[in-house]
Amino acid sequence: MTTFKDFSSCVAQYDPEALPVSAAQAIVRQWASPVAAVERVPLHDALDRVLAGDVVSPTNVPAHDNSAMDGYAFDGTSLVSQQTGIELRVAGKALAGHPFGRAVSAGECVRVMTGALMPDGCDTVVPQELVTREGDTIRFPGDTLKRGANRRRAGEDLTQGQPALHAGRILRPSDLGLLASLGVGEVAVRRRLRVAFFSTGDELRSLGEPLDPGCVYDSNRHTLFAMLRRMNLDALDLGVVRDEPAALEAALRSAAASADVVLTSGGVSVGEADLTKQLLRTFGDVAFWSLAMRPGRPLAFGRVWSGERPGVGQPALFFGLPGNPVAVMVTFYQIVRAVLLVMSGASVQAPPAITATSTQAIRKRAGRTEFQRGTAARNERGQWQVTPTGSQGSGVLSSMSEANCFIVLAHEQADIDAGDTVDIMLFDGLI
Ligand code: AMP
Ligand code: MG
Repeated sequence: MTTFKDFSSCVAQYDPEALPVSAAQAIVRQWASPVAAVERVPLHDALDRVLAGDVVSPTNVPAHDNSAMDGYAFDGTSLVSQQTGIELRVAGKALAGHPFGRAVSAGECVRVMTGALMPDGCDTVVPQELVTREGDTIRFPGDTLKRGANRRRAGEDLTQGQPALHAGRILRPSDLGLLASLGVGEVAVRRRLRVAFFSTGDELRSLGEPLDPGCVYDSNRHTLFAMLRRMNLDALDLGVVRDEPAALEAALRSAAASADVVLTSGGVSVGEADLTKQLLRTFGDVAFWSLAMRPGRPLAFGRVWSGERPGVGQPALFFGLPGNPVAVMVTFYQIVRAVLLVMSGASVQAPPAITATSTQAIRKRAGRTEFQRGTAARNERGQWQVTPTGSQGSGVLSSMSEANCFIVLAHEQADIDAGDTVDIMLFDGLI
């Protein structure tokens, strides 16, 4: 069996104790393969699901040339032959869904409403505002229009036989509308990725339990649940697991049996009760333990199995996230999210990069990537400015709630002065 460690050690800058973020991202992506199973779902259940194959347009949309305006449809060749006033006789009308029904003859026009089928023999629409009408006769200046004006062409939106949406697309509201415009009521999507998660720590209490001295409520399970739910994944909450080797092993094995990916929080740093780490050394296959990243330094990545030893039973990818609540969120978004997308079959796009001027000096040590929490806004000149939120402690979850972006300080970056340019990653669209 090729182990993660064998493989990962080929990656440039491989240092399992303090791996640069970019190297960690490269390693985890290598191990992510998309779920194969596909299911067909009705359109309304397809929102936020991952399209399994290209959807090829079975028709032209629109299916026929139609009017883009309320006005009068006519044969535009008369514009070429006659530069000045044009006079036409109104032969009838066409509304959306009610075609005119015959070809127009020379000197005729048809009253049309937006969306009405272009009558045979017509290729141009004069908007009603340009026309003077007396009885059944309209007049308008011929030099105000070009032939073909105000006509929507068949296939202008989607052409028959062309892919309207590509495999890997996470379906958005506009896509549901687009599929409906093709007459498609059901689509093939990848099955949802199953992600099991649990929290570790003897100090953790679940909601509704009394808070004994020295204990804290388990918040990580709830942020993890919400982050997974936002990605429309199948989230399996396995509760709180005590810092006991047997309990942890049992939890990891049952998680591997039921999920594609297992996320835990806590127990991966160097404290005495950091059992997840010890357990995985004998029981799993681990690519790295620790990242050159802040927050989120202790982060384990590898594989676990449902059987009694590595390689036996059902495998699952494993992320041992740190215990600190902010570190859980930062590692999830910076390391885990892209893997979950790839495994879901989605084509991954990096969130748009924006630069902003820092309103404050920021202390930063070279040699690790930092993801500080910030509040970004555009100033009166339209330029982005960002201010770090108060406390940057990795346990201070309110800094995440208060912030609207990550301030991304690159690996080699040292201290920032007020007025320097920094990279930011807006939460909107990410979180
Ligand atoms: P650990 O990595 O297990 O040493 O945990 C680091 C810190 O995060 C400790 O202060 C823990 O109490 C805290 N912590 C760990 N897990 C959770 C959790 N699920 N919810 C809230 N805080 C946690
Ligand atoms: Mg702990």
